[in-house]
Amino acid sequence: MMNRRTFLKSIGAGTIGVAGIGCNSVLPATLPIVQKPNVLFILSDDHSLQTLGAYKSRMQEFIKKHNITPNIDRLAAEGMLFENSFVGNSICGPSRASILTGKHSHINGFRSNHDQFNADQWTVAKELQKAGYQTAAIGKWHLGSLPTGFDDYKVLPGQGMYYNPDFIEKGSSGLVRKQGYCTDIIGDMTIDWLDRKRDKTRPFFLCSWHKAPHRTWMPAPRHFSLLDEVDVPEPENLFDDYRGRTSSASEQEMTIRDHLNIATDLKVTPPVMTTSVKAIPEAVPKTNSMDPATLEEFRRMSPEQKKAWDAYYVPRNERFQAQNLKGSELLRWKYQAYLKDFIRCVKAMDEAVGRVLDYLKTNNLDKNTIVVYSSDQGFYNGEHGWYDKRWMYEESLRNPLIIKWPGVTRPGSKCSEMVQNIDYAPTFLEAAGINIPEPIQGKSLAPLLRGERPEEWRSGILYTYYEEGIHHVARHRGIRNERYKLIEFYGKGEWEFYDLEKDPLEMKSEYGNPEYEKPIRTMKQKLKELMDYYNLDSDA
Ligand code: CA
Repeated sequence: MMNRRTFLKSIGAGTIGVAGIGCNSVLPATLPIVQKPNVLFILSDDHSLQTLGAYKSRMQEFIKKHNITPNIDRLAAEGMLFENSFVGNSICGPSRASILTGKHSHINGFRSNHDQFNADQWTVAKELQKAGYQTAAIGKWHLGSLPTGFDDYKVLPGQGMYYNPDFIEKGSSGLVRKQGYCTDIIGDMTIDWLDRKRDKTRPFFLCSWHKAPHRTWMPAPRHFSLLDEVDVPEPENLFDDYRGRTSSASEQEMTIRDHLNIATDLKVTPPVMTTSVKAIPEAVPKTNSMDPATLEEFRRMSPEQKKAWDAYYVPRNERFQAQNLKGSELLRWKYQAYLKDFIRCVKAMDEAVGRVLDYLKTNNLDKNTIVVYSSDQGFYNGEHGWYDKRWMYEESLRNPLIIKWPGVTRPGSKCSEMVQNIDYAPTFLEAAGINIPEPIQGKSLAPLLRGERPEEWRSGILYTYYEEGIHHVARHRGIRNERYKLIEFYGKGEWEFYDLEKDPLEMKSEYGNPEYEKPIRTMKQKLKELMDYYNLDSDA
């Protein structure tokens, strides 16, 4: 196998300095660091770039106008925003495993949500703990095994609940139920840890990982009517018919039209909630029974929470039923209902981020704390007619990444180099002055954060997706560079190729188009090299 340097040169990493590529921070690399920096790592679940005001997207203007993410936007204004941040496997558990290990799924062993994370393996938390960091994990975990390498943790079992959630707390047997809204509680727990648990003689690594805005998008009562009077802009490919791509795109089961659950995802006629709502309209599929997890959400609501829920959703559902929508108008209604609840969940999460950032500032912790905001992957907000993630297409391949490193990142700077979630672990280590173990596959982002333009940086990213089953997304892998994307649905012998410059919405695969014969050949070769580089067998 070729070594790293030879490989990077072979795929053009040494010649990455094309116009517009680079990071526009300008601070020198040699700022004195008198103390190892703290790391506050805020991770959300399924937060799309389209619903984050700091990111350019089809909805940026709308999100900013309605003040959905002012606090995360503030973090971007104070730190560096990565414009080309990607995950290696766009699904919850695998992304978290890659984040903790700095390795792709086939190396850390967590390929799909059906796997269980091997908690005995090396993680960045263990390494920081060994180096004297005080470590804590709060919120969503979702790795099938309990956190290791953390001095303290309070994590949700599985997906957790939005309303009155249970937590698994280190040192406690059984579950501990907290009253309130999950996002608020995770914000409170984060502040409480900083306030009462923090050892002021040591730096900390604190993970504040939100459940929001994961499905089934249950907003906080104070946000039920947010955006009620406006329409969220529709994507131009909301009515995508999946022509021009392989069979996989049309065989999936993640359309807003046919696959959102009318009772739980769209909150129409939750059976345990109301008796005043009439029968489900004819246009609604009859298969949409309430799933057990969401039933449990409703069961554990307090009378006040139920009252607030009914006060909003019952009249909304009555209006919906009176309209008796069909066809494209029904799809449009579902799109609005889905996305408004999604954005409402984002709003509460942004408020929690704001409260934590305020705490850091008030307590003079903002000067020596690296604050990271990211999500375990992106999400479809109606693009291609979809919700959910999984695909190597842009909306789920990309994830938000904003890092504020006081005194190092230039406020308001942007980085356009291609980075991945395997890069976070080595970044934290370099920031802490810890040597990066050789087996880590990611690259430290520290040079980029310092505003340097490394001679060698990656010019292509590897993507793998293994989880078939729910949503029926075929296994695939691929490579993306600045302009092109090649996807192999290797179980089906199908390929797709996109020219992102000419077709940013990925509506027509150019695989097989003679005009693209040369770049397709080159990308196939680069994919092979990338798989070699990351030790990914073609049959893995
Ligand atoms: Ca997720």
